[in-house]
Amino acid sequence: MTDSTCAIGIDLGGTRIKGGIVDAARRITHLTAMDTQAEGGPDHVINRIVSLIGALRAHVPDDNHPPVGIGSPGSLNRRRGLVINPPNLPGWTRVPLVDNIQNAIGVAVVLENDANAAAWGEYAALRDAEPDLRDMTLLTLGTGVGGGLIIDGRLHGGPFESAGELGHTIVVPDGRPCACGQRGCLEAYASATQIVARVNEARRAEEADVAAIRSAEEVAAAVRAGDSVASRIWDEACRYLAVTCINLRHLLNPRVIVLGGGLSEAGDLIIEPVRRYARGMAWGDHDEPELRIAQLGNDAGVIGVGMLALDRRNEPIADASPAGG
Ligand SMILES: [Zn+2]
Repeated sequence: MTDSTCAIGIDLGGTRIKGGIVDAARRITHLTAMDTQAEGGPDHVINRIVSLIGALRAHVPDDNHPPVGIGSPGSLNRRRGLVINPPNLPGWTRVPLVDNIQNAIGVAVVLENDANAAAWGEYAALRDAEPDLRDMTLLTLGTGVGGGLIIDGRLHGGPFESAGELGHTIVVPDGRPCACGQRGCLEAYASATQIVARVNEARRAEEADVAAIRSAEEVAAAVRAGDSVASRIWDEACRYLAVTCINLRHLLNPRVIVLGGGLSEAGDLIIEPVRRYARGMAWGDHDEPELRIAQLGNDAGVIGVGMLALDRRNEPIADASPAGG
């Protein structure tokens, strides 16, 4: 329907909406953001997304109506364009986001889970150097732990469109409670939020009036400085990430496992222990997926969903399906 050479990618988060113009070489040529104001409810947030798209269109050089992709948290029904019930967007229950945005802007909209969108962006970046790469898994380590599965060159959603929720795979039976309602999820040990919470819990148990650690960067700095409590909890997060990597290897055999999200900015401090634990726990060293740090940083979601909008712009819109959600 369009021969655009760029797309608009929108990354919808609980606190910020980020939007960018993404070209076919995965460069962001213009980036902007606004507060989500999630407390205003779905209609208010949808109006904000529409105004953000309007602001971005003004910066599109040769085409006023490039395709639009939206990366959203939580589970989705992509075929029907519904956002089901994300924990960080209160009041959103089966919101027809795609219909609402399409009606307002007059252009087809692609909806994708935010971690899947980031996975697609990282996959596209890796294929520059390795055009034959077909299988990759992304773990995003941020407020929560997300995942995206690229299997045989395609994003894998499964019949219920919820495959790849790697943060809610269980690494400790009957372990710490997770926001999803299960216990012992990877997210309860290895998200930035939970690492900070666990370090603060452990420090307070030793010394009641110790100053709180506020961010994963501060935890990483404490680990580098040799703080024993921070090191123990960091190490445990790395061990459970290694468990997940081994399970992924045996389930899916990806060639590459990419660690993304805010925690991945710790670089070797996170990837080296995960590698070491994975090698220590796994049988043999054949067919071992390569562990890498993500390349696209904070903009992976915007870039990935922009690339998806470009890649899918000529696909027929799928029929509404009873599957999922
Ligand atoms: Zn969970």
